[in-house]
Amino acid sequence: MPQAAGWRGDPLWLADVLRAEGLDVAEFAGWRGRGHGDFHDIRGVMVHHTGSDFATAASIAYGRPELPGPLSQVHIGRAGTVTVVAAGVAWHAGVGVYPWLPVNMGNWHTIGIECANSGTAPWAPHRQNWPDAQYFALVNSCAAISRRLGLPAARTIGHKEYAGRAQGKWDPGAIDMDRLRLDVARQIGAPARATSPRPAVPVGRYADVLLYRGTRGRQVAELQRRLKFAYASYAGGLEISGEFDVATEEAVREFQRRTPGLHVDGIVGPATAAALELRLIDVDL
Ligand SMILES: [Zn+2]
Repeated sequence: MPQAAGWRGDPLWLADVLRAEGLDVAEFAGWRGRGHGDFHDIRGVMVHHTGSDFATAASIAYGRPELPGPLSQVHIGRAGTVTVVAAGVAWHAGVGVYPWLPVNMGNWHTIGIECANSGTAPWAPHRQNWPDAQYFALVNSCAAISRRLGLPAARTIGHKEYAGRAQGKWDPGAIDMDRLRLDVARQIGAPARATSPRPAVPVGRYADVLLYRGTRGRQVAELQRRLKFAYASYAGGLEISGEFDVATEEAVREFQRRTPGLHVDGIVGPATAAALELRLIDVDL
């Protein structure tokens, strides 16, 4: 049964709930008794990367001399194996703030998931160097835990969202948390959060627009300008070069993913151009 008012105490159900989600679950010896004390109410899930593609579950369970383990409750390897390493409080969150958490108290109110991943770079595109097996094990783990706790996908947050300002954390790197939450919401089975309505069927002025990888010119520059300044959260780094390059295609795909009704193909045709409200350049001028 989901807990309407938040779970109190240690989540001794972790392995069972993750297994019931169809995940490949390993139970690290002694996990039920491992922790820095017991949980208060659990309010959400916090996602991390370890900083190395090869960090083991044991390194999370035992920690290191200056920071003893457990360093999270759950470890996810690159092959998608989900290892439960602790049921008690773990040192994963550190200091930080988030609206539904008491200041600096993330460890006592969130279940931490450490993924064996370098994180690539703070600016890396979504899921770069995140194998499908690992990414979907993460999505399904967040969903299984959230469903058990009766929490929506909005309660899955990244360490960077909590501790970014306080600690300069950027994990999980190469994970767009909004997109992860949409995937988690889908897996929970709850309707994804309200999105903008389907764009109107393009007519008239956008009918002839067709821009794709390799296209050059002023219309491409206008497309890049539109993406860069209106969708800075994921396209802010675009160069206005007038050349439809890989980065432009990725930004277009991102826009398409986020816009209901659009086909995600990285090509700007009439529907995508209309949804972007792209300013049209008269190429004959
Ligand atoms: Zn972290």
